[in-house]
Amino acid sequence: MTEDLFREIELLREFGFTHLDIGGLRAADRGQGDLLAELEEIVTACEKCRLSKSRTQVVYGVGNPNADLMFIGEAPGRDEDIQGEPFVGRAGQLLTDIIKAMKLTRDDVYIANVIKCRPPDNRNPELDELESCRPYIRRQVEIIQPRVIVTLGRFALQSLTEKSYAISSVRGQWLEYNGIKVMPTYHPAYLLRTPSAKKEVWADMKKVMTELER
Ligand code: SF4
Repeated sequence: MTEDLFREIELLREFGFTHLDIGGLRAADRGQGDLLAELEEIVTACEKCRLSKSRTQVVYGVGNPNADLMFIGEAPGRDEDIQGEPFVGRAGQLLTDIIKAMKLTRDDVYIANVIKCRPPDNRNPELDELESCRPYIRRQVEIIQPRVIVTLGRFALQSLTEKSYAISSVRGQWLEYNGIKVMPTYHPAYLLRTPSAKKEVWADMKKVMTELER
């Protein structure tokens, strides 16, 4: 049994699976798309935290399973909860515009949140909810293996890395997560409230484009 297979079984146990189909778990035999789809089935059935009670549906993630660039946000809002896709409301349109300005499309990148179910009234996620959901975003990153991750806002950065970074002090500086370059920047919802911060986000995205061109 390979190390990969052991790791995958361990993760599935962490996600609450007790009966494992060992024959179906050969990660090396499957592509990123298959692995993401299998994980999606697990996440869609998840009831690990109280947010499962108030969600309309799980918002798993969308985009290219082989993406070089991954955007990670905080949690679904009202529009995302209804449509089942991350970043589709006003903040989502702004993210789409940013992606277009980078001469990419949403289909070129992968977009997901650290929390997969909408917190009621768009409140901030609680610590235990972030902890319950963290294995999913980490597994998505592990499957996709992007070259660059852009974290959008404080919760995305802190939850992915499990470090208490202040976004104002690390924004625009390269960090690292499991050997992958991480560019922390502001959340598009913040940009809607503070349009003057758009130029800082654009400066961060220029660094990302330069890195991706290497
Ligand atoms: S937020 Fe995450 S951990 Fe909580 S129920 Fe939804 S998928 Fe499960």
